Amino acid sequence: MMGTVVTFTIHGGEQQSNETAIRKAAEEMQRIEGLFTIYNEHDNPVKVFNRTPAGESVTLPPEIDALLRTSLEVQEQSNGAFDPALGELNKLWGFSQTEAPSSPPAADRIGQITRQLRNCIRPAGKTAWKRLNAHCQLDFGAIAKGYAIARGMRVLKENGVTNGMINAGGDIELTGSHGDRPWRIGIRHPRNRGEVIGTLMLEKNVSVVTSGDYERFYIFEGKRYHHILDPQSGMPAQNSQSATVIGKNGALVDAWSTALFVLGPKGLKMVEKYGMDALVVDRSGQLHMTEGCRSRLRQ
Ligand code: ADP
Ligand code: MG
Repeated sequence: MMGTVVTFTIHGGEQQSNETAIRKAAEEMQRIEGLFTIYNEHDNPVKVFNRTPAGESVTLPPEIDALLRTSLEVQEQSNGAFDPALGELNKLWGFSQTEAPSSPPAADRIGQITRQLRNCIRPAGKTAWKRLNAHCQLDFGAIAKGYAIARGMRVLKENGVTNGMINAGGDIELTGSHGDRPWRIGIRHPRNRGEVIGTLMLEKNVSVVTSGDYERFYIFEGKRYHHILDPQSGMPAQNSQSATVIGKNGALVDAWSTALFVLGPKGLKMVEKYGMDALVVDRSGQLHMTEGCRSRLRQ
């Protein structure tokens, strides 16, 4: 689901109740994917919003309204590095389509769309919103997975799990511990396949999300093009090879991993300010991290 393989790991408990817990958690995560995705053929309120004429208000279900508010908060706090309105631009780049692209779109098309996106989603009532122009399209791709793993973990706990991990293609949610030791989370080396840059030792309720330029990318005329865009230029962000954020709130951690990727090392102070830890591999491969991260990373 969510374009990746999701793995559930549980320590202790009974086989049968663990399996029930996993099934229910997976169902909840699939529900969330269906509610937020703009990339499959089923309709949902996000797609309705995106096709309602600009200027007309649309009432969003509470859950979508809440994640949109969180998104706009992160957009503001990150000085626009995170932007939930990149839907059309993301589709133009094409990284989420089944057919992987192999060359970048026309520069004038990118410019035309990008110029219209800044702060283009506006409140229009209690849980109602409008978009200012037709290029403005909601895309929760950088936050919904973090929200989904957090909700999935809640379901595991409600079903009796005390030590568990959900791993959605590197977006990780943890609770408890791995038996008598902490959970060990390897952070992938962004350039050397199969290598890690270090291992995080983590316990209790925590989310760890990495955004990287090595999952969905192509090389065109010697340059790397990937799926995390700088909302200012409309081009793949250039400041990082990967960014990892650790924190309590899965949705926020996911959103900030994308924002931090766009910002590069200068974003670490912001992440810290909002009570999270993080590490960034910058464009030249250098590692930067918060103090809290240093104390948990084994290299
Ligand atoms: P992944 O999907 O690999 O876990 P991210 O959480 O960083 O990685 O999300 C990337 C997705 O978010 C893109 O595929 C796109 O849909 C969307 N996106 C790209 N750039 C941004 C951005 N600057 N702000 C918000 N969403 C973005
Ligand atoms: Mg993200």
